Amino acid sequence: MPPFVGTLLFFLLLAVLLAFALHRTVIGRGMAVPLRQMLRKPTTNQYPEQPRPVAPRFHGRHQLNRYEDGLEKCIGCELCAWACPADAIYVQGANNTLEARYSPGERYASDYQINYSRCILCGLCIEACPTRALTMTHDYEFSADSRRALTYTKDMLLAPAAPGATDTPQRDKDVRERGTNYYGGLAVSPPSLHGDDVLPATARTSRRASQVLPVPTVSEADSADAPGHHETEERR
Ligand code: SF4
Ligand code: SF4
Repeated sequence: MPPFVGTLLFFLLLAVLLAFALHRTVIGRGMAVPLRQMLRKPTTNQYPEQPRPVAPRFHGRHQLNRYEDGLEKCIGCELCAWACPADAIYVQGANNTLEARYSPGERYASDYQINYSRCILCGLCIEACPTRALTMTHDYEFSADSRRALTYTKDMLLAPAAPGATDTPQRDKDVRERGTNYYGGLAVSPPSLHGDDVLPATARTSRRASQVLPVPTVSEADSADAPGHHETEERR
């Protein structure tokens, strides 16, 4: 037998033992990961000039949404604050008035803050929100060098009113005249950081649409607000 055959067999046996060790032992499988990476072609991300797209359900910065006519979806119920495991949300609710209506319901959030030095972007708050007022965008570029700058206030979180819509507060009379069924419309996803505009999150109508009370006409509502209306009720 030529001498080089013995050497060849030796290296063959060594390769088989190495392959066995890499596949069958824990330390071998661990070592195989950096070995594989060493053989791959390196990829360089040109961040921040060319940010990589994120997953469709990525949890980034929050956004307080509006209805198409500009009214805010937040009703100041504080469910998001109670659901937050990091105690990162502060909500102060207040009543809508005839001259200053912010949301379709009785209440709205007069103050809304999220402290991003506490927030872990878990998304439990958006699950708790009953009106889809609170959603999370794809924006992850909001680092800051002070704790104060990481507390986002309502004006920083509130989405701008859609083109043609009126900003809040609106007059209660104008809202009633529109007669919109606010709880039967389409949910809307927040805009993406990387180019997409507002996308419809779902095309199905709300299951609660049939449970919403009919909106009173302006004349009915005005007569109910008039002082004489209550006096008549009391006399009965
Ligand atoms: S994402 Fe999680 S931690 Fe952040 S505010 Fe919402 S519930 Fe709290
Ligand atoms: S964001 Fe949603 S859960 Fe939080 S206070 Fe507003 S309506 Fe309630």
